[in-house]
Amino acid sequence: MQILDGKKASQAIRDELKLEVAQLAAEGKKIPHLAAILVGNNGASETYVAAKVKACEEVGFKSTLIRLEENISENELLAQIEELNIDPDVDGILVQLPLPGHISDEKVINSIDPDKDVDGFHPVSVGKMVLGSPSFVPATPHGIMLLLQHYKVETSGKHAVVIGRSNIVGRPMSILLSGNSNPGNCTVTVCHSKTKNIKEFCLQADIIVAALGRPEFLTADMLKEGAIVIDVGITRVEDSSRKSGFRLKGDVHYETVAPKCSWITPVPGGVGPMTIAALMKNTFTACRMKN
Ligand code: NAP
Repeated sequence: MQILDGKKASQAIRDELKLEVAQLAAEGKKIPHLAAILVGNNGASETYVAAKVKACEEVGFKSTLIRLEENISENELLAQIEELNIDPDVDGILVQLPLPGHISDEKVINSIDPDKDVDGFHPVSVGKMVLGSPSFVPATPHGIMLLLQHYKVETSGKHAVVIGRSNIVGRPMSILLSGNSNPGNCTVTVCHSKTKNIKEFCLQADIIVAALGRPEFLTADMLKEGAIVIDVGITRVEDSSRKSGFRLKGDVHYETVAPKCSWITPVPGGVGPMTIAALMKNTFTACRMKN
């Protein structure tokens, strides 16, 4: 069994970006600038946004964090996004999800200039991704593809089972894995909460991407020997022995599943860091499109 180490792979990507940013600076060109909007005080969202801003600093990007009150109106948020859309210095805009219930995610996503849509959630980006055209790919599936690429994992001709069909992880993951690309060229089955006998599908899989948000859902009896397992899940579960009061659990029962795998991602330290690296790459691309 080998580890798909997201920390190492993402560090390699960040080191590369750092050099490329230094090169841009040396040539007197524009440095990438990511603007992040955080609405309210959701603990997990705070952590994710802080990690993204820190990663920007590390690679030499400019970053702006805009914090808005939980009770901000939808129109006020849309006006804020419009300001960033027309600001020539801003290359990438991300609005941390989930948003408070009174604000429509869809309206907000659709209001972002597609050229600055580094999260890859805008319908224009999604459409291009489906067509296989160059586009901003959602950070988590993009990060997983970069991880497979980094470790030169052979995916062509394999049967991939993706558990979860959300717009930010499962669905784009299934499209990317089935694309005529490397990594890619898989035959893909998408499972969701209405799928009957998930175990039967998983037992046929060469690659399993678990993205359902149910801690330790995938157990050793559900996969075949030598499968490749990508654990996207991050759920905070109570742990009074920790200072924070919680620990992170993936969707895979790691202790029993790992010995059966050829490759597996740990949680934490697998997909999470790759998501941030992919966002950085998207922001760099957005900037280079202008340069
Ligand atoms: P989501 O929007 O809640 O979607 C979950 C998907 O899983 C849905 O399609 C749902 O099916 C399916 N599902 C739920 N329970 C199931 C079950 N028992 N059997 C089969 N399918 C089931 O979640 P998400 O945003 O995609 O995130 C999934 C997990 O990844 C979460 O733990 C999240 O925290 C984590 N995540 C991690 C990263 C990272 O960087 N590592 C990034 C994003 C998300 P239905 O469509 O039928 O409801």
